Amino acid sequence: MELKQRIQQLAATISTDVIGYRRHIHANPELSFEETNTSAYVSQLLTSFGVKHETSIAGTGVVALIEGKNPSSKVIALRADMDALPIEEKNDVPYKSTNIGVMHACGHDVHTSSLLGTAKILSQVTDQFEGTIKLIFQPGEEKFPGGASLMIDAGVLENPAPQNIIGQHVMALIPAGKVGFREGMYMASADEIYITVKGKGGHAAMPDKNVDSILIASHIIVALQQVISRNCDPRIPAVLSFGKIMGMGATNVIPEEVYIEGTFRTLNEEWRAEAKQRIKKMASGIAESMGATCDVDIKDGYPFLKNEPALAKRMRAAAVDFLGEENVLDLDLWMAAEDFAYYSQKIDACFYRLGIRNEAKGITSGVHTSTFDIDEAALQTGTGLMAWLALEELKA
Ligand SMILES: [Zn+2]
Ligand SMILES: [Zn+2]
Repeated sequence: MELKQRIQQLAATISTDVIGYRRHIHANPELSFEETNTSAYVSQLLTSFGVKHETSIAGTGVVALIEGKNPSSKVIALRADMDALPIEEKNDVPYKSTNIGVMHACGHDVHTSSLLGTAKILSQVTDQFEGTIKLIFQPGEEKFPGGASLMIDAGVLENPAPQNIIGQHVMALIPAGKVGFREGMYMASADEIYITVKGKGGHAAMPDKNVDSILIASHIIVALQQVISRNCDPRIPAVLSFGKIMGMGATNVIPEEVYIEGTFRTLNEEWRAEAKQRIKKMASGIAESMGATCDVDIKDGYPFLKNEPALAKRMRAAAVDFLGEENVLDLDLWMAAEDFAYYSQKIDACFYRLGIRNEAKGITSGVHTSTFDIDEAALQTGTGLMAWLALEELKA
């Protein structure tokens, strides 16, 4: 039998098992960097497949190696994230979260169970490929500083060093059975901005005796939009949004301080560094010119995510070969952030989307909502495809 048919057949054979893994992980979600039981479950299953692995990497991370013939000829990494979110699940399903207030609302249960399925498939065909497949189960995608950066610090991209890395993420806009690819820039960097404007509080009827932090903060918010509209190269996507402003005065009280929080996202590292300097300088300059002071604290989030064009092109072609042209879509830029970006800054990477939507079954909720769920048929697609992508890339 041709290897492709064999992979498809294995994905179908183990699909019920993989649904079981997903339901177990979904029912027992753990927050970022607390994935102790999930990690133990992953380890236990890898052992049962006969896949050698190491545990407790960067806390709860697990790294496994599946070696074919001539294992040092080429190494490809596959990555899944394991953490859940602080959301109370509203779905009425048999596999509903039993950890109240914690939910797999970003599909990381899908990524982990799918990669376990891929491991099970690959461990049965080691006589049919050359090279090594490294499986990375990482903690903490949802929380700063990101499990990916900690795994890299712990040496996950060495001994053996993968030439490239492939990851998948669920997407609620894409129907189950389909996947999406994009070459080049894909997801944004995301930095958090915290600004405190310090004026002089007092009676609102005597503005000349005060330094009005509310008015100064308003000027700062409006002026900072110019960093995007006037300083950013129009060909670079960039977003600056403020989602929180707090000035605890009253109708007749000007507050001492106003506190502002926002997010800055873009897809160019040079511009990202420049923009952060401009934001600091402009906010401080406006505050100072109006008699106030201003603290600008910018917390660096994940970098932007780049799909190496040649790799993404090969992976898209392999997906077409495996799933059919009609099941492979092209993705737009996506201004959300993802810690897989850290791997993409180090080695050639391809991050693709796994469709999970099924309108007929009412499965349409987006990620990070309390009603997020998937059409579990997607697991067979994700499991088989990832195995196939790794095998094709080892041959490339
Ligand atoms: Zn998420
Ligand atoms: Zn996610």
